[in-house]
Amino acid sequence: MDISRYKIQSHSDLKLAEIKTNDSGSYGSREDAEKRLVDNIQKMAEYQSKLYAQDKYALLIIIQAMDTAGKDGTIKHVMSGLNPQSTHVHSFKQPSAEELNHDYLWRAIKRLPERGSIGIFNRSYYEDVLVVRVHDLIKKQQIPAKLITENIWKERFRQITDFEKYLFENGILVVKLFLHISKEEQKDRLIGRIDDKAKNWKFSAADIAERQFWEEYQHCYQEAISETSTNHAPWYVIPADKKWFARLLVSEIITQTMESLKLEYPVIDKAQSDVLKEFRQKLAEGLI
Ligand code: ATP
Ligand code: MG
Repeated sequence: MDISRYKIQSHSDLKLAEIKTNDSGSYGSREDAEKRLVDNIQKMAEYQSKLYAQDKYALLIIIQAMDTAGKDGTIKHVMSGLNPQSTHVHSFKQPSAEELNHDYLWRAIKRLPERGSIGIFNRSYYEDVLVVRVHDLIKKQQIPAKLITENIWKERFRQITDFEKYLFENGILVVKLFLHISKEEQKDRLIGRIDDKAKNWKFSAADIAERQFWEEYQHCYQEAISETSTNHAPWYVIPADKKWFARLLVSEIITQTMESLKLEYPVIDKAQSDVLKEFRQKLAEGLI
């Protein structure tokens, strides 16, 4: 599958409104896509096992989206084959008082994946150029007033790009996914959460409140994505109206990203191999 179609070029003149939310690539049927997803899940597990054995690289997957776009479902389905021991998911909520008393990257840095493992951020430090911008929460961030200028968002885009470059240069690969749904699809999903009793628990009045800011969010997403998509930490815009396609595409991006690392199990040298042979012989002969 050609994932480059969904990759955003650095400083592109991105227009989110022009990117289809109900695209399903060349996949006409859900069944074919689901089969491919199963294959990808298996491949991811193999790569993860090598990633862990090598203990050199780490992978950080950042998922951002409007409410109801399917962040939780994507994590649940796509990551279902990963080894829980070396996979860590963290959801970023409204910052605590302690978190607000630090710089905005602090809480994310604490959650970075260690070498050999996969970290998944359900929301991330990108909230600090999204919700914080839409609702003008910057004043609550304890930053000295003279540092809050009209350039604050441009500065944050640069800080984030520098931070992600630093991670890349230290073997931590960052892949960023924006699940892109239409406002119409969000309406249907919200209604679904009201109509279906089993989904009532998912309904949140806060989602309705945020829906009123749809255009502002789209604008902020658009700018953040185009300003921070780089070769070392690319953004992908995932058409997410069809959940089965979004899941497949996410699995494809992760699989291909891991493939690009050309991961192999560590090989031992001749001396180590001789030691193993000696142990084997002694074990077989009952000497140890
Ligand atoms: P779900 O609703 O599926 O449980 P969610 O990610 O929407 O997942 P919520 O607890 O509903 O989780 O919402 C978390 C809220 O925290 C979001 O509205 C998000 O914008 C907000 N948030 C995250 N980071 C920040 C931040 N740095 N500053 C202010 N608000 C933030
Ligand atoms: Mg929510």
